[in-house]
Amino acid sequence: MTEQIRRVLVRSLEDITIEEVPAPVPGDDELLIRTTVVGVCGSDTHAAAGHHPFVDLPYRPGHEAVGVVAVAGKGAEDFAPGDRVIIEPNLYCGRCPQCRSGRYNICQELKVFGCQTPGAMADLFTIPADRVHRIPDGMTDIEAALVEPLATPVHAVAKAGDLTGRTVVVLGAGPIGLLVLAAARHAGAAKIAVTDLLPGKRDRALRLGADTALPADATDLADQAHAALGGPADVVFDCVAREQSIAQATDLVTKGGTIIVVGVGAAGTTPVRLDLVQDREIRIEGTLMYTGDDYRTAMSLISSGAIDTAEIVTATYPLQDAAKAFAASVDPEQVKVLVTVDGP
Ligand SMILES: [Zn+2]
Ligand SMILES: [Zn+2]
Repeated sequence: MTEQIRRVLVRSLEDITIEEVPAPVPGDDELLIRTTVVGVCGSDTHAAAGHHPFVDLPYRPGHEAVGVVAVAGKGAEDFAPGDRVIIEPNLYCGRCPQCRSGRYNICQELKVFGCQTPGAMADLFTIPADRVHRIPDGMTDIEAALVEPLATPVHAVAKAGDLTGRTVVVLGAGPIGLLVLAAARHAGAAKIAVTDLLPGKRDRALRLGADTALPADATDLADQAHAALGGPADVVFDCVAREQSIAQATDLVTKGGTIIVVGVGAAGTTPVRLDLVQDREIRIEGTLMYTGDDYRTAMSLISSGAIDTAEIVTATYPLQDAAKAFAASVDPEQVKVLVTVDGP
């Protein structure tokens, strides 16, 4: 008899259950991986609420996955049972112009493992071996679970160009905003201001090294930020991506400065002050996910101790309590919520 495994099934935020299904079998060039830790992402709760433009319900989540190789399929023998790994969930075609230029994070046929395919919030899962990275020695599974969430900020920060000595504003102190803060600091930013509506999140940003944390709803936000940074910001990272935040970004950024849109925008049209964008030569650039290079940077950042894991990982739940993990993840006082898997 084939082994039965547990796998999380999300129909809505209120309907998150565990399904029992036969264990998947690795095909050629695939690995069968036993999950140890898997993160709940903002995109997961967004999808469960029915708001994610690219994730259809029901779905089987889990793209921030850490595990141990159980079986290496034919052609995947570079890995061996027992290897500790993290997955890089972007599944790309390898043929389109974007893939051929190395920008496979924006592949024309991009699918995300655990978003458009069954994910790793399960006892076992299969994935192509080329979508897997070995975990460096000395890195814990909990730390490894932060590599994927950190890789997006690392990619976003790289898009902003050389940050050495520059001034930065990060709009939004959720998990992505806090990790943008850490990545920007590591990239040499001189002064960083973080904004958020919630005092608890502003305090956390300060503990994680922000020079200033400002209330996002302050009517004189630009004045406060200018005072803290000594002038308009060289770079603004918009981790909120709503009408108000992009308006703040165009207000806060210096002439010739850069706005990086990191948050997932609402579907449809978001107004932007095009007159200011043109007149001030403001560059607005989007950023999506990451590539392997960003993973390697994120791993070395974590290995170097630059990320205070205890400030980022605020709750963990066993697999059978996945519904509770999702509910906790919606709480704005939480940062990163993890699900741990110990086998059936
Ligand atoms: Zn994620
Ligand atoms: Zn492609």
